[in-house]
Amino acid sequence: MNDCWQTLLKQGFNEIGALLDFVGLHAADLPVSIEASQQFAFKVPMPFAQRMVKGDANDPLLRQVLPVKAELNAQPGFIDDPLGEKQANVLPGLLHKYHGRVLFMLTGHCAVNCRYCFRRSFDYGRNRVSRAQWQTVFDYVAADQTIEEVILSGGDPLLITDSQLDFMLTALEAIPHVKRLRIHSRLPIVLPQRMTTTLLNRLQLSRLLTVLVVHANHANEIDQTVERVLFDSSQAGPILLNQSVLLAGVNDSVKCLAELSKKLFACHVQPYYLHLLDPVAGTSHFEVDYDTAVGLVSDLRSSLSGYLVPRLCRELAGQDSKKIIA
Ligand SMILES: *Cc1c(COP(=O)(O)O)cnc(C)c1O
Ligand code: SF4
Repeated sequence: MNDCWQTLLKQGFNEIGALLDFVGLHAADLPVSIEASQQFAFKVPMPFAQRMVKGDANDPLLRQVLPVKAELNAQPGFIDDPLGEKQANVLPGLLHKYHGRVLFMLTGHCAVNCRYCFRRSFDYGRNRVSRAQWQTVFDYVAADQTIEEVILSGGDPLLITDSQLDFMLTALEAIPHVKRLRIHSRLPIVLPQRMTTTLLNRLQLSRLLTVLVVHANHANEIDQTVERVLFDSSQAGPILLNQSVLLAGVNDSVKCLAELSKKLFACHVQPYYLHLLDPVAGTSHFEVDYDTAVGLVSDLRSSLSGYLVPRLCRELAGQDSKKIIA
């Protein structure tokens, strides 16, 4: 199974033309930009591409990954570090912004490059942590009794191997005041084969309460393989949550958001956050304005059970938590 996900990852698309051929579209009919893909690389794993609707230039999955000319338009207010992550970067790879929890960026890589990514300009070079540097992070966590939760993030933390994760968990389990482990990963969605039995068994054995926060924006991202993997993951112990980003032309309708919540919940995943787009340079064409977003979530609330409605939130630099809007 291990070899299987790593092979699939290597076989992903890293050339725009190859993906367009695969989905039966022509570059000439789309606002494709090679220059945009030079600023932030193009990358799509095969299992995700297979869920795109063939011949549909407006496919919501394609829109999330296709580099387009609009990314090159500078927009006022859209900057490289809108979240003030530089100030919270206490050690290479470690962000300590909020009380009680730290966020550990294990790798700068992802299986998919989402064009709206809030960390598309993050300095991963400066934050590349070798296995030896992990120890400085463990020491930091061990020295601060207020840290009860460690969040593994990235890039995508599940791109590290099962044996590296085992090493990481063992080190965190040895720090008595650490109670919870949270994993923020898009891999269960875009490359579900990553959820190996070795990984699930290891999570199940941990003394830490484990929360797996996946990232899906549209119901079409969840096919039968994803459904099964999410269900199996939930059976292995972790609490499953989902975070989405509200994206123009992808999921900015009540129908889309309701379908997504219902489909997630059917696989034991609870909707958590619906993020307003972070104003990162190159992403302004995905913006849904504040009032429209509030209206959408209010309409969603009138059509769904309360627990199916994600919290609309926004992150502002320098605040002590993400801010819940609705
Ligand atoms: C989002 C985030 C968290 C987690 O916030 P929650 O509201 O607990 O989900 C923690 N640290 C950093 C740096 C974050 O950006
Ligand atoms: S998976 Fe997450 S971190 Fe990676 S490119 Fe997409 S949004 Fe960014």
